[in-house]
Amino acid sequence: MAKILVAGGAGFIGSHLCKKLLDNDNEVICLDNFSTGRRENILPFLKLKNKNFKLIEHDVTKEVFLDCDEIYNLACPASPLQYQLHPIETIKSAFLGTLNLLELSLRNDAKILLASTSEIYGDPKIHPQREDYFGYVNPIGPRSCYDEGKRASETLMFDYHRQKNAKIKVVRIFNTYGPNMDVNDGRVVSNFIIQALLNKDITVYDKGLQTRSFCYVDDMTEGLIKMMAAKNNILGPINLGNPYEQTILELAKLIITLTDSKSKIIYLKKPQDDPIRRKPDIKKATDELDFKINIDIEEGLKRTIDYFKKTLSI
Ligand code: NAD
Ligand code: UDP
Repeated sequence: MAKILVAGGAGFIGSHLCKKLLDNDNEVICLDNFSTGRRENILPFLKLKNKNFKLIEHDVTKEVFLDCDEIYNLACPASPLQYQLHPIETIKSAFLGTLNLLELSLRNDAKILLASTSEIYGDPKIHPQREDYFGYVNPIGPRSCYDEGKRASETLMFDYHRQKNAKIKVVRIFNTYGPNMDVNDGRVVSNFIIQALLNKDITVYDKGLQTRSFCYVDDMTEGLIKMMAAKNNILGPINLGNPYEQTILELAKLIITLTDSKSKIIYLKKPQDDPIRRKPDIKKATDELDFKINIDIEEGLKRTIDYFKKTLSI
């Protein structure tokens, strides 16, 4: 049994990770400031008075003092809508949060995993994206608080490893979806499902020809746990995601079909610096972690639709 800190544990991915770690008989400390996370996501563990689950309300931009064996650093807003509403808090969470958690890892001699992102590739000129691509990122645009915040966090992780022997792991997460996404999250999968279930217009930005590759959350949390368990010399960065690529318009049509919705598709303005194409090359994850995709897009969407039906009482 390990004592594991999940920073950002009340968020979408964090809450699934807490559950899986608890199911595997670990002691879990969830640390969160509830900026984009929600108490409802961790309510099952609180309600059960699970003695292996502890909640600490704290902001990672401030120092953290506790005992632990492993640290997952997920504490950062991840939705473009949310991080663009709070850009200064976002870049501070990414950089200062990583700094404070790295210091905590040294005090405890604990392993630390950074949830980095495909956004570090920006609007990529190489397709699919491999880990050795350095990216094409606007340093001063509306997405930069997140992209550059995560890039600087990766730098900090590797500098702490080289200079202070920190036991680091860096994964680059590609678009992930599933239950526990907030109704107001603003990312495409939750937006489209909610719009479709309510028979409202589906808001496709631009012509919807931009692509993404969507990974169901259970496959992602498996990948995160495999990375943490990997040998100490596997530092990353390693891409994690589902390489099945589709256009946003195809996603909209699939969700309309799966929900049997009467919604119409409308086309809105293209957001600035919105990446045109995104697809992970997951050879490294497959070879080094035996990472697998078990849940395809249709099955994952069906499960997510069921979750939003319950949440919206439909
Ligand atoms: P989320 O917004 O649901 O979760 C983030 C959590 O971090 C929330 O619970 C939030 O309250 C907490 N948090 C934010 N700032 C904090 C701070 N300063 N102190 C303490 N807690 C703080 O997003 P998510 O989709 O679950 O993403 C989790 C992590 O994975 C993020 O670091 C994100 O960058 C990364 N990631 C996610 C995706 C994705 O598609 N979901 C893609 C790439 C990277
Ligand atoms: N998008 C859209 N309609 C929405 C929300 C998003 O067309 O209501 C598009 C967005 O422009 C982007 C893609 O869907 O091209 C994925 O957006 P999301 O915000 O989910 O995450 P991103 O991959 O951009 O971080």
